[in-house]
Amino acid sequence: MHELMVAQSLLTSITAEAEKQNAKPLAAGISCGIFNAINDDTLLFAFEAIAKGTICEGVKLNISHKPVQARCKNCQNIFEFDIASPRCKNCHSDDFELMPDPPLLLEEIEFDTE
Ligand SMILES: [Zn+2]
Repeated sequence: MHELMVAQSLLTSITAEAEKQNAKPLAAGISCGIFNAINDDTLLFAFEAIAKGTICEGVKLNISHKPVQARCKNCQNIFEFDIASPRCKNCHSDDFELMPDPPLLLEEIEFDTE
């Protein structure tokens, strides 16, 4: 189960940062590509389960999905791949290649600063 590994690594990162800041984490922002095979609900559930009893208990995960970029082989334009209209935004060619999906990233952690 991929999500459990992701949840575990998030928990480790957030805990390390919380110890460094000596503050309780409240929320964390995560981003990943739209083709990343992460199921949001499964990840949230897994995180909640393993965070129980740790400093990360109750931390809210905000997952955002980044669009994938594509490069046109005709005019070299780099554009945001849109599954509803998979064409170059510049020359309207459909001869393009997809850029690698953005990896899952822990972007920010919100702490209780009181
Ligand atoms: Zn083009």
